Amino acid sequence: MELRYKPQKVSFSQLMTYVRCPEHYLFRYILGIKIPPRKNIIRGLAFHEAVAFLFQEKKQGRAMSLKDLQDFYQFTLEMAFEDYQTRMEASKIFLTKEYLKREKEIKIEDLLVSGVKGLQVYQDRIAKKITPKFIEQNFKVPLDKNLAILGKIDLIDKKGIVYEIKTSTRRPANQQVSLDLQLAIYNLGSKAIFGTEPKGFTKDFIVFTKKGAEIRRFPLKESSFREEDVKYFVLTILKAIENNIWYCLHPAESWICSKEWCGYWMLHKELREKGLDYIIEKYTEKFQQIC
Ligand code: SF4
Repeated sequence: MELRYKPQKVSFSQLMTYVRCPEHYLFRYILGIKIPPRKNIIRGLAFHEAVAFLFQEKKQGRAMSLKDLQDFYQFTLEMAFEDYQTRMEASKIFLTKEYLKREKEIKIEDLLVSGVKGLQVYQDRIAKKITPKFIEQNFKVPLDKNLAILGKIDLIDKKGIVYEIKTSTRRPANQQVSLDLQLAIYNLGSKAIFGTEPKGFTKDFIVFTKKGAEIRRFPLKESSFREEDVKYFVLTILKAIENNIWYCLHPAESWICSKEWCGYWMLHKELREKGLDYIIEKYTEKFQQIC
């Protein structure tokens, strides 16, 4: 059985999934087998929602206290955690015991405490200085008449600066932000919405450490990517997807391809043993209904 998939829209995170692991893209987006995001990712999502809410309130002229912001975060985290538990139960058949053990070791209480500390640092050092104009702004960049990149810009301030907010447990290395593809796509997104490039970019990392949280900021005046290069990059990935190119690009000893880290390790093994036709036959449409 042959599978030919021609995407009509693609997001930055889908593109990055393919770049990091094409097999992962196959399982997640073509066969529709969703593994819940890891607990650390849930913290990041709840943090993002809290920050977006903070700026929405600020834009409406309502000052939000740190306590209210942290309560909002707690509520969002707890809701997301309930959803995670339900989805984890349904996904267990795909996950190794090593993966499940690692997830179990992460305590939701710790994610709550670290997120609360992160919000305090973010509000004190960053949020107070920003006057928001657009929050979670959707964009669509047409590539041709049947194909578009879809995305959402975290924040644009009144001066026209685009902000990207990231959470991490590791201090980022000196970021090559001028070669940051996400910012390059935001650049195109901004042009598609407003007809002009942003006045600049800022990538803020909230780093959760053992002692609390800290900020790492990476400003950028303009993206080094040319528009045609970004589009060529995206179209090349989509061509590979269309042509069923799914490969494992990690070396055998890579930590990514391990029972502990990869949520698709068992499917990866099955694909290696039984082949693509078997996997497509077995999983196509079966799991798209439960996701
Ligand atoms: S084991 Fe490696 S190649 Fe396979 S899905 Fe996981 S990360 Fe990708």
